[in-house]
Amino acid sequence: MSAQMSPQTGPARIGHYIDGRPRAGGGDSAACYNPASGEVIGAVALATADEVDAAVAAARAAFPAWSRTPPLKRARVMFRFKELIERELDGLSALITREHGKVLSDARGELIRGLEVVEYACGIPELLKGDYTEQIANGIDAWTMRQPLGVCAGITPFNFPAMVPMWMFPMAIACGNSFVLKPSERDPSTALRLAELLKEAGLPDGVFNVVQGDKRAVDALLDHPDVQAISFVGSTPIAEYIYARGCARGKRVQALGGAKNHLLVMPDADLDATADALIGAGYGAAGERCMAISVAVAVGEATADALVAKLAPKVRALRIGDGMDPASEMGPVVTAQHRDKILAYIDDGVAAGAQLVVDGRGHRVAGRERGFFLGGSLFDRVGTDMRIYREEIFGPVLCVVRVPDFAAALALIDAHEFGNGTAIFTRDGLAAREFAHRVQVGMIGINVPIPVPMAFHSFGGWKKSLMGDHHAHGPEAVRFYTRQKAVTQRWLAGGASGGAQFVMPTH
Ligand code: NAD
Repeated sequence: MSAQMSPQTGPARIGHYIDGRPRAGGGDSAACYNPASGEVIGAVALATADEVDAAVAAARAAFPAWSRTPPLKRARVMFRFKELIERELDGLSALITREHGKVLSDARGELIRGLEVVEYACGIPELLKGDYTEQIANGIDAWTMRQPLGVCAGITPFNFPAMVPMWMFPMAIACGNSFVLKPSERDPSTALRLAELLKEAGLPDGVFNVVQGDKRAVDALLDHPDVQAISFVGSTPIAEYIYARGCARGKRVQALGGAKNHLLVMPDADLDATADALIGAGYGAAGERCMAISVAVAVGEATADALVAKLAPKVRALRIGDGMDPASEMGPVVTAQHRDKILAYIDDGVAAGAQLVVDGRGHRVAGRERGFFLGGSLFDRVGTDMRIYREEIFGPVLCVVRVPDFAAALALIDAHEFGNGTAIFTRDGLAAREFAHRVQVGMIGINVPIPVPMAFHSFGGWKKSLMGDHHAHGPEAVRFYTRQKAVTQRWLAGGASGGAQFVMPTH
């Protein structure tokens, strides 16, 4: 399914998947790159409104039969899908690395985190069980049931081409909905392979569809009257747009946005373990994770000095290379344009007076001179008024901010507009408890740098990191992808009506 170069025709077209089969798509296309080599490896179709309409129509047609399919049978499709992903782990990982750039082991890791959502979705018969109360009044019983919404759509970012879509569609489908996925145009092939595997698992045609594209495809989904719900993950400005426009069209919307995640380092923390945690969480996937740690908040000058002294040699020693090379710890960033944006942030930080302890600009990888590589950068003495502190850089750049005490650290984290994830590293249980209790952030790690909830909990940030009422996957996904119906029943014995009643029934 991955795009192949052909000397005669140029890069292969990466198309859509509608109603159980691939479609080339007739509209414009955009170049798709291998970030490690800098080469164009595909031309991704950019769906027209008509193509989006075809995908929604297929999903709408598939919905009635699928929503009536017993949950146990829907779960069996998920069980088979799980086995197929396990079978295809290596091929899918390579597909991710080829278009995204992250190292193979990390691509495998994201697939496994997505697979865990599929495993959770296998329990859908249990998850959909409603509440029942017998005898709410004389001869009257009541129960609730959760029913699917109809056609749901997912719009996903480049940084997790498998995991983020898999936060959405396994749960939506298991709940009885049909689904249209609009993946990132920067790494579009993984979604197509997942569509093929779902079909092989026995999913009826039309229940899962993929449309490639950009804003035009997104707008067509937002405006389509047959789309009932939108799940979005991406940057905050787009999340705000999706939330406003989708809600204005009467849809249910969850829109997860950007992040600036802080790791608070207390003076009593194990600094070796903390530095290792910061290196993995700051530079893993070249910092292109919504749960990456991009700010270390050191309490006290001595803590900051010791931390920076431990971090700097580790940042310089990062093994940077093609993600396909098992020796690489960090791959390239996704596009040349994104690399240039990160470089501009580093320049800005220097100009603003932050101390650039390790400079990742100008890093070259031998044999991959055209790849979109950057070295790791480390800033110390970053001020909260600087752009490198306020804005999401989404690259291999870690900022150290110095604060005098725990209260100042907490105030700083709370004042930031994003509230996705945060962590505290300490040996003090009371400080950890206070932090988790008080901090205005959605996901908290205690001596855990990237506290991504497991599939059977739900994932979501606070403040500008999430718009909407429901978090992703886990129990919140069952609520998002279904609506509750409450039934009250009475069976009267013949002639026992007792006549008309004109007051609110009370008991
Ligand atoms: P992005 O916002 O540029 O794109 C996300 C999706 O929106 C893509 O499918 C894209 O095609 C579409 N899109 C882009 N511009 C659009 C527009 N003007 N109108 C309509 N649709 C548009 O994000 P990205 O660069 O692909 O991903 C990185 C961002 O995603 C970061 O900000 C990161 O923090 C965030 N992210 C957040 C989470 C989370 O759980 N909160 C998870 C992963 C990524």
